[in-house]
Amino acid sequence: MDKKIPMEHDKKIALVAHDNKKRDLIEWAKYNRDLLAHHIVYATGTTGALLEKELNIKIHRLQSGPLGGDQQIGAKIVDGEIDFMIFFWDPLEPLPHDPDIKALLRMAVVWNIPMACNRSSADFMISSPLMDGEYDRLVPDYDGYRSRKIRLGDED
Ligand code: PGA
Repeated sequence: MDKKIPMEHDKKIALVAHDNKKRDLIEWAKYNRDLLAHHIVYATGTTGALLEKELNIKIHRLQSGPLGGDQQIGAKIVDGEIDFMIFFWDPLEPLPHDPDIKALLRMAVVWNIPMACNRSSADFMISSPLMDGEYDRLVPDYDGYRSRKIRLGDED
């Protein structure tokens, strides 16, 4: 059985872009500024600083990605504090925090967070009629996983 996690009208959105993708994200965010303005926006450090300057809206800034910002967003997803993510990651360059990037993408899937990793997906997501209302996000019931039997080897 899945669990329903309500997403409210004002959504908690995380925005992250790698250096080669920052221009793309800023352009996208400027175009969608008025839509973004009535949501609650989180971002990794450098992305957030640029967004704040260019959009003139309040951004909840976390650490820079390579310094732990991706992990902070992942933790917020786990705690139900982020319901939506735009993450323009760079497919052409290895980065020092590749394990963190993979972990963040994985958390978004584990918790069924809508996630756009390129501009066209972000366009489709932001213009979805589901953005305008409440939405019940279905998350698998992980209780079966939590209560799985672990064999320690000393029982029959
Ligand atoms: P930044 O981090 O916004 O601080 O550049 C992005 C990232 O690399 O995840």
